[in-house]
Amino acid sequence: MLSWFRSQVNEHGLLPATLLLSRVLRYRIPVVLSNRLLPDKLECPCCGWKGRRFLDYIELGYHIPNAACPNCDSHSRHRALYLWLKNEFHLENKSGWALIFAPERALAPLWQSARKLRTIKVDIEAARGVDLLADVMRLPLANESVELIWCHHVLEQVEDDKAALGELYRTLASTGGEMVVSVGLTGKETTQEFGGVNPMLSGNRRLYGSDFCKRLEETGFAVKPMSYALTEKEAERYAVYPETFYHCTRSTRATNTSF
Ligand SMILES: [Zn+2]
Repeated sequence: MLSWFRSQVNEHGLLPATLLLSRVLRYRIPVVLSNRLLPDKLECPCCGWKGRRFLDYIELGYHIPNAACPNCDSHSRHRALYLWLKNEFHLENKSGWALIFAPERALAPLWQSARKLRTIKVDIEAARGVDLLADVMRLPLANESVELIWCHHVLEQVEDDKAALGELYRTLASTGGEMVVSVGLTGKETTQEFGGVNPMLSGNRRLYGSDFCKRLEETGFAVKPMSYALTEKEAERYAVYPETFYHCTRSTRATNTSF
């Protein structure tokens, strides 16, 4: 909590960070108490944690209730993607080089269990135990050098997402290469560009609309929109909310996935 507060002070200044901390504590205390006193209702598939309620996720500009696992910090999309990677994508059968952008702590054990994959954790900051410090707009990698790219909720923070998508396309193997990507979608048709970092929205530079799919296709990817195939009971148990993500290949023909 202390390191989180320090990072908020660095990012927003002392007063906004203190106000944010007071909001976090106000919502967190009842959740912690209910997890201690009430029977289990929820489960995190990533780490096995069970409890009554996930922690609220609170940023300066928004608030998501029942969001974060108290043990591994998984959010709805991490929990859903964990199940998809394991049960539908069959990550354990994948081989070759995999680029994992902004590696999520909740998914780390799953990546480690994929014995045939050689993973490279990439980030622009050294805070996540990364293997490669690099900017997605300028990747120090050869053409078609990776078989799998995993890139979630990164492109909204990148200055030039067209350049970033071009780099992802360039480095992905044209034969058998797969990219799984997602961004925060607003439900609107067009992407809203802020023209800079928006401190109220986690430092995002844009909010994507449904035209994100077109941006992928214009880069050259064959794109297949995906959703989590969870039953209503599973979605409730794991606190997963619907979100679209995309399976992309460099093929110009119709996508023919192997999972
Ligand atoms: Zn967890």
